[in-house]
Amino acid sequence: TKLSKIRNFSIVAHIDHGKSTLADRLIQSTNTVADRDMKEQLLDSMDIERERGITIKANTVRIDYKANDGEDYILNLIDTPGHVDFAYEVSRSMRAVEGSLLVVDASQGVEAQTLANVYTAIEADHEIVPVLNKVDLPAAEPERVAEQIEDVIGIDATDACLISAKTGLGIEDVLEAIVTRLPAPLKGDENAPLKAMLVDSWYDAYLGVIVLVRIIDGTLKKGQRVKFMSNNTLHHVDRVGVFRPEMEQVDQLGPGELGFLTASIKQVRDTRVGDTITNDRNGVEVPLDGFKPAQPVVFCGLFPVDSAEFEDLRDAIDKLALNDASFSYEMETSAALGFGFRCGFLGLLHLEVIRDRIEREYNIELITTAPSVIYHVYMKDGEMIEMHNPADMPDMSKVDHLEEPRIKATILVPDEYLGDVLKLCQDRRGIQEDLTYAGSRAMVVYDLPLNEVVFDFYDRLKSVTKGYASFDYQMTGYREDNLVKMSVLVNDEPVDALSTMVHRDRAETRGRAMCEKLKDLIPRHMFKIPIQAAIGGKVIARETLSALRKDVTAKCYGGDATRKKKLLEKQKAGKKKMRQFGKVDIPQEAFISALKMD
Ligand code: GDP
Ligand code: MG
Repeated sequence: TKLSKIRNFSIVAHIDHGKSTLADRLIQSTNTVADRDMKEQLLDSMDIERERGITIKANTVRIDYKANDGEDYILNLIDTPGHVDFAYEVSRSMRAVEGSLLVVDASQGVEAQTLANVYTAIEADHEIVPVLNKVDLPAAEPERVAEQIEDVIGIDATDACLISAKTGLGIEDVLEAIVTRLPAPLKGDENAPLKAMLVDSWYDAYLGVIVLVRIIDGTLKKGQRVKFMSNNTLHHVDRVGVFRPEMEQVDQLGPGELGFLTASIKQVRDTRVGDTITNDRNGVEVPLDGFKPAQPVVFCGLFPVDSAEFEDLRDAIDKLALNDASFSYEMETSAALGFGFRCGFLGLLHLEVIRDRIEREYNIELITTAPSVIYHVYMKDGEMIEMHNPADMPDMSKVDHLEEPRIKATILVPDEYLGDVLKLCQDRRGIQEDLTYAGSRAMVVYDLPLNEVVFDFYDRLKSVTKGYASFDYQMTGYREDNLVKMSVLVNDEPVDALSTMVHRDRAETRGRAMCEKLKDLIPRHMFKIPIQAAIGGKVIARETLSALRKDVTAKCYGGDATRKKKLLEKQKAGKKKMRQFGKVDIPQEAFISALKMD
């Protein structure tokens, strides 16, 4: 294929602004998929993606389009993940294409993820075509939103496409804009050694790992032997093809093209987004620059509620990890919770997705411990420890100081909720960096500790703004602060799964709130239970759960055996979701609920 007839692009948008619907329309209007095979949100495949309306893995589709100039074009669309947890993968995969459609809901305007995603596209040197979607809605204000795009993002929106992805209005204009306004790929050398970028990969039960590639130089063919440069592994290519969006094999892929290869690779782990693929010998010497594997930033423990399910959990985690290189795990034993795993995730959504899948697809009930970030613990002897579990906190007397990761958070919110948002950020130890207006919405930028955000910040933000705020963040670095480990003791036994890192100034308040919550969450027992929060050996908050005196079944009438039996069964079922700590049963939900701050 001639390079001048190829256009590679992605679609960037805030969630729900219509990215998937537009992709569907582009596929449908070019007859890439026969009408009878068309189903909604063709590119969103995973169940959780569909349910939550988010795209987790990038997908891709090759579209044939005969343009108004009478020429046949190949349009390659890659659908990048739209969530902040996957920001690194987005920024890598954006480098595999030359342009972006910037989709903005004309009834909503620019949102936080619009900004984050479009900046990533600008960083990747994309040509950008603004597309104002949902013009069919009565509330649509395309002129105002076009102005906003110019003011806030600083790109020309005079020739924005006005469309309704839902009705199909304006889709032709978008296709023409892709051809006329986005650049063709830079010229590559077909005869040079293979140089291809690994854009994405996922596991397929029949074919092994499917690797999405962008060819820069050289050609990729079936039967070829290739090398993945980051880990120096060699593979025999057994399939080369494109997505329409089903897989279709082709003879070869050349410079400028996007497609896939399979090579009987067993684990997604062996394929790193952003890696360079070349020939096994006489390949290129220098890989594509800037490659670094995505690093987990949020850690938590996953334990089976029923300890007999540990092996099942191991199995489930092994299987999920095959398909997710950015998820890390190692076995962990907790005095309180028994055997489980300490897992690392790219962010909270990523954590939720994995946890949901274990519970749903593998039917294992889980106890999730408090999410933690990675702290840098500087010891007095000069050593630095990367600590991702508060349970591993060394003795304070040997510690010189601690550093925690910080983020830059951008929040867009209607004016009327601004006060609540500022208060929330302030409560989470935020430092305001900027406050400007984008139309009737305020845009605030805060420097916040990641630890204060990973837990329930997003939920709180949504609730104080009735869902009208949008939020995005990026990691900025580490900074020293006065941080301490707070332990929780139930009936004088420390419950390691409830220990957290807190700021010294907030410790008493947090400790008190936690003890109060636990008092409500833990059922009464036949004896009195002290609940305490402590720093080092010093108790900073305390509650006492009073004893339960009567036998629960005593309430039943003497002769009613069935009722008594039912009650006992109910208790037994309830027990299953509890874990025993010394003599105390703690319900599973206590581990998460106790940590929520409100
Ligand atoms: P994504 O999160 O950006 O992929 O957004 P979706 O494509 O899933 O769209 C979000 C919601 O907006 C869905 O309920 C769509 O049906 C709806 N939607 C998308 N495009 C339009 C449009 O042009 N007009 C209207 N009225 N609704 C639309
Ligand atoms: Mg979508």
